[in-house]
Amino acid sequence: MKKEIHEHIRAMPKAELHRHLEGCVSVPAIIRLARKHRLPLPTFDEKELEKTAKLHAPMASLPAVLKMFAIAQSVFVSYEALEEITFEALDRASRLENIKLLELRYSPDFMLGGKDLDWKKALEVIAGTLKKFERSRDLVGGIILIGSRSYGLDSVLKTADFALENKKLVIGFDLADDETAYPSRLYAGAAKKLREGKIPLTVHSGEEGSYEQVIETVETLSPRRIGHGVKAAEDPSGLAIKMIKEGGITVEANPWSNYLTNSVPSLEKHPLKKFLDAGLKVCIGADDPEILDTDLNKEYRLAVEKLGFSEGEIRRTLEFALEGSFLEKDKKQQAAKALALT
Ligand SMILES: [Zn+2]
Repeated sequence: MKKEIHEHIRAMPKAELHRHLEGCVSVPAIIRLARKHRLPLPTFDEKELEKTAKLHAPMASLPAVLKMFAIAQSVFVSYEALEEITFEALDRASRLENIKLLELRYSPDFMLGGKDLDWKKALEVIAGTLKKFERSRDLVGGIILIGSRSYGLDSVLKTADFALENKKLVIGFDLADDETAYPSRLYAGAAKKLREGKIPLTVHSGEEGSYEQVIETVETLSPRRIGHGVKAAEDPSGLAIKMIKEGGITVEANPWSNYLTNSVPSLEKHPLKKFLDAGLKVCIGADDPEILDTDLNKEYRLAVEKLGFSEGEIRRTLEFALEGSFLEKDKKQQAAKALALT
């Protein structure tokens, strides 16, 4: 029975709004690219590298997680590597997860930091690989650029300007990483600029810290979507959830990611169901599938097995993903058909 449910979930057409390209590099790809480009690795043994490049249990320490990202980041060394990584991310999503709508995001300053690669050319390669993939396979997608908070305000502003200059190749902008040290209010100017330039915004908020940070994000940035948002569920007054609801904001939930980074005490305590029952528009994502050892098959299974989701409720999250997607109208119509949501 369990096997049948798992197969049923695997076969379901899916939509993914929250996936980092930097978190999509498989261990075999890391080894292959490191060999090709003569890059150092802690080990070239696949099983051994799995231990340092993937997180299997709740985070032991932040440096351990950063080390994992550093290993994946090290192989984004050439335009060919970018193409290979992007293609593999799309191919696995389509083939193994049956994803029909995929928004991929990356931080240019993080991904390309220390590399001799041009931001624009890199974006053209990534967006071009996606375009080519869309022509041959039943998947539509788009690229979201990330401003990394911990790289400082200048980096976020530079990335926002870059997004505005390359509007044709990007569908949205995301503000990610350390929200406690770099609170949302610091980026109100960047958010305003993006809004004026008609680039929709999503913000990693309430992944750690407190529900007050979610309130600040809604108040100061007015994003269309929020990544994670789990801390909103901890507001005893219910204000954080109320503000998300009244703002018509879509929440991109990533249950396994939140479990591994200790954002929630256990999977059963993840607020995904609470959000749905409170009337929030919530969808399900995998965040960094390779680094966190997950995918949408697993995330949907967790929603069913740990959070008691019915198939109807899973489909509700798909409807919210489609509605909240930053993709252009014709791609959304195509995705609606593929997701059987018309
Ligand atoms: Zn994320």
